[in-house]
Amino acid sequence: MARIPSILLSLSLSLSGQGKAAPQSLEPVPWHPLATGLPPATIPGPPTSLTFDNQTTRTLKLFWVKYNGTLKAYGLLQAGAPREQQTTANSCWMVAETSGKPLGYFQATPRPGRAIVPARLPVPVLRSRKYTPGTRQEAILWQKNMRGSLARLMKMEDLVAQDTPLPLNPTTSSSEDRGKFILHEMEIDSTPGNRIKLVLTVPKAVTGTCPAVVAIAGHSGTRHSCYQDRGFATLLAEKGYVTISTRISQHSVREQQRTMMGERLWDLMRCVDLLASRREVDPARIGCAGNSLGGEMAMWLAAMDERIAATMSAGFLTRMDQLEENHCRCWKFPGLRELVEFSDIYALTAPRPLMCQNGLQERPTWFTVPLAREALAGIRPIYEVLGAPENLEFVAHEGGHVIQIPSLLAFLGKHLGPEQ
Ligand SMILES: [Zn+2]
Repeated sequence: MARIPSILLSLSLSLSGQGKAAPQSLEPVPWHPLATGLPPATIPGPPTSLTFDNQTTRTLKLFWVKYNGTLKAYGLLQAGAPREQQTTANSCWMVAETSGKPLGYFQATPRPGRAIVPARLPVPVLRSRKYTPGTRQEAILWQKNMRGSLARLMKMEDLVAQDTPLPLNPTTSSSEDRGKFILHEMEIDSTPGNRIKLVLTVPKAVTGTCPAVVAIAGHSGTRHSCYQDRGFATLLAEKGYVTISTRISQHSVREQQRTMMGERLWDLMRCVDLLASRREVDPARIGCAGNSLGGEMAMWLAAMDERIAATMSAGFLTRMDQLEENHCRCWKFPGLRELVEFSDIYALTAPRPLMCQNGLQERPTWFTVPLAREALAGIRPIYEVLGAPENLEFVAHEGGHVIQIPSLLAFLGKHLGPEQ
């Protein structure tokens, strides 16, 4: 939990400064347009003040960025009417349209300052934090910072930052013999107070430790979808992989302070927590695979959870422009496009093995092979910089919006291997 210093309690909520002219002697503090990055969470500092000067021609909203990175509303900034706000040094203050669309922020300094919202706000820049090739160290630093920015955008920063994992409190409601493996119906805590259902399969003939795969279904999928009709998860379970699957196809938010995509991802990371806790699983050989929304969530899981050793993402590699039309827009959340492209998210997986599959029979407005090749060109440079270009594989298969099973099995076999 964020520590709230007593100084915060004395912060003035009043708008008593409204209308007061900004003293010209105050030094301007820098305006950070949001496209350059998200405001950092506020950290404690000595008392100071900011005099906001909204030089646009419209009313704007003001928010204080709290110690945990979330926002607290502090009223309106009228055009041309400077307003003095008591605060503390290092505090971040976000300015947004009255619609709530964030524009930029200021960070208070120990000296009282002028916070000038410029008259003309720049058109938002998309993909402002694109990966650009440099040194190996720069690539690793870019990945680390980007994971932090994305976790904050997905409102799961507090979850991923925990030193000790939350207890899983696993329970098993049934266990069924499926020939070569046992299929367990289980529940675990995703967050305290929110339990999720999942399927876990464990090979019967296990003597040492096994590789494991998080199997992820697509839109309207359930925890059972990847196993049905001899689906790829059943094939992997029969080949000796421990497999796990939970439903991530919800289109609503469970906890108000979260995001839908953040909750989907966190549930998958909790599946990895469960795998890592099982004695029959080799924690160094955990992979993930999925098609469509499952391919998208495989991208996110591999990008944000470095425990994932090999990733197969099918039916998803594309550019964001394509998904703006003719598709469910659950992929998008505020601030995402301003930061990155899908290529950049996939680039967080490097140098770990990644296979992307796209079908030559994909619908012309969906995840076509030419679009996938364009996106692939954006992923390849970081694999080269990190010295593992061979770990990035692309399969343009003869099918449609499906997984090509033989190349999936070969890929996982090569990188995760058999039981040891
Ligand atoms: Zn959707």
